[in-house]
Amino acid sequence: MDSGVPMRKVAVIGSGIAGAVCASSLARSGFSVTIFESARGPGGRMSQRRESADGKELLFDHGAPFFTVRETATLSGLLQEWERKGLIAEWKGKFGSFDCHTRQFLCRDQEVPDKKYVGVPGMNSICKALCDEAGVESRFGVGIAQMDWLEKDDSWSLIGIDGQGLGNFDGMVASDKNLVSSRVTAVTGRTPPLDLNFCSHLANKVKEIPVNPCFAVMLAFSEPLSSIPFVGLNFVNSKVLNWAHCENSKPGRSTSSERWVLHSSKEYAESIIDQFGLRKPSPELLARVAEDLLRELADAGLDLPKPFFVKAHRWGSAFPVAGMAPEEKCLWDSNRKLAICGDFCVSPNVEGAITSGMVAASKITSILSRM
Ligand SMILES: Cc1cc2nc3c(=O)[nH]c(=O)nc-3n(C[C@H](O)[C@H](O)[C@H](O)COP(=O)(O)OP(=O)(O)OC[C@H]3O[C@@H](n4cnc5c(N)ncnc54)[C@H](O)[C@@H]3O)c2cc1C
Repeated sequence: MDSGVPMRKVAVIGSGIAGAVCASSLARSGFSVTIFESARGPGGRMSQRRESADGKELLFDHGAPFFTVRETATLSGLLQEWERKGLIAEWKGKFGSFDCHTRQFLCRDQEVPDKKYVGVPGMNSICKALCDEAGVESRFGVGIAQMDWLEKDDSWSLIGIDGQGLGNFDGMVASDKNLVSSRVTAVTGRTPPLDLNFCSHLANKVKEIPVNPCFAVMLAFSEPLSSIPFVGLNFVNSKVLNWAHCENSKPGRSTSSERWVLHSSKEYAESIIDQFGLRKPSPELLARVAEDLLRELADAGLDLPKPFFVKAHRWGSAFPVAGMAPEEKCLWDSNRKLAICGDFCVSPNVEGAITSGMVAASKITSILSRM
C-alpha cells in the first residue's frame, strides 16, 4: 500500500563490488537507489574485458582473477545466494608457483587453500546482477565531477563530468578513493569530486591513500600451454612477474581458445609509472610492458608458443596499501548522510570491499529510516 511518504533517494557513485553490494542492500531496504558509474559497464576492478582477434571473441578477467572469503560468518548468506543464482562458482584446479631462479614449478598440495570463487561467466557477474536489481537504477558512462552538500535543503546535489545536473539525493555513498583523493588530479587533471573540507576528521583520513599499481597482460594462444602444470601460479624470484592464470580453466568460460593473464610485480609497475607518469599510458608503452613480461617468462625458461593476441592494461591503483577504517569498515558522516566505502577502508581485496559496502548500506539505512 502506498504510504504517501516519498521514497528516500540515495546515490551510489561507482559500480565496483562495494558500490553494487551497497546499492542492492539499500534498494532491498526500500530506498530509491541510483548508481552512477563512469565506465561503460559494471564491475570496477572486477570487470571483464571483451576483445577479439582472428574472428574470435576473447573474454578476460583482467582485474581480480578470483576472490576468497575468510569471514564466512558475515558473508556466508551473500555467498550462498550468489551460488544459488549461478553468479559465482568455485574455481577448482591445481595452483602453484614457479621459481625463476631454480626454474622449477612448486606444487601447493600440502596446503589447505581457501576456496577460490569466481564470477560466472565473468568476474563482473555479481556486480552486473546487483546493478539490475529492482529498486536500483544504473547509469553507466556517467562520471561524477562534483558532489555538493546543500545545507539548506539537507540533501546532496550531483554534477556530471559534462556539466549536467544529475539531481538531488537524501543520502550519498562514494565507493572509490579517487572521489576524495588528490591522486585523481595526477591521473585526470581534474579536482576530486568530493571536497571533504567540511569534515576535518574524514579529510585527514583520506588525505593520503597509498596504493600499489599493477599491469595485466592478456594473451591468447591457438594451442594449450601444456608446459605449465597449473591453472594459476605465483612467480618467485622475479622482479617483473607476480602471477599468471588460465582464463579458460575457470567455470563457465568459453574453451574455444587458450587465454592467459599475466600480472606484473608492483616494483615493475612502479618503475614504469616513475618513468612515464600517471597519465593514461600510450599504446606504445603498453606494448613495451607486454614485451617485458613475455621476455621475463622466456628468460626464466618458460618458452611459450607465440600468442595470436597480446594486450596490456594498467591498473594505476590496483591495491590499497592499508585499510583506512579497519574497525568502522567505512567512513561516515551522519550529519550529511555520507558514507565512503571500498576495499581501501578494510583490506585490499574483494572481501574487504564487500564488507565495506555492506556496512555503508547499514549506516545509511539506519539514519534515513529514522527520519
Ligand atoms: C590486477 C588485480 C588483481 C587483483 N587480484 C585480486 C584477487 O586475487 N583477489 C581479491 O580478492 N582481490 C583482488 N584484487 C582487488 C579487487 O579487485 C578489489 O579489492 C575490489 O574489486 C575493489 O572493489 P571496490 O568496489 O572497492 O572498488 P572498484 O572496483 O575500484 O570500484 C570503484 C568504481 O567507482 C567508479 N568511479 C570512480 N570514480 C568515479 C566517478 N567520478 N564517477 C563515477 N564512477 C566512478 C570506478 O569506475 C569503479 O568502477 C585485484 C585487483 C587488481 C586490479
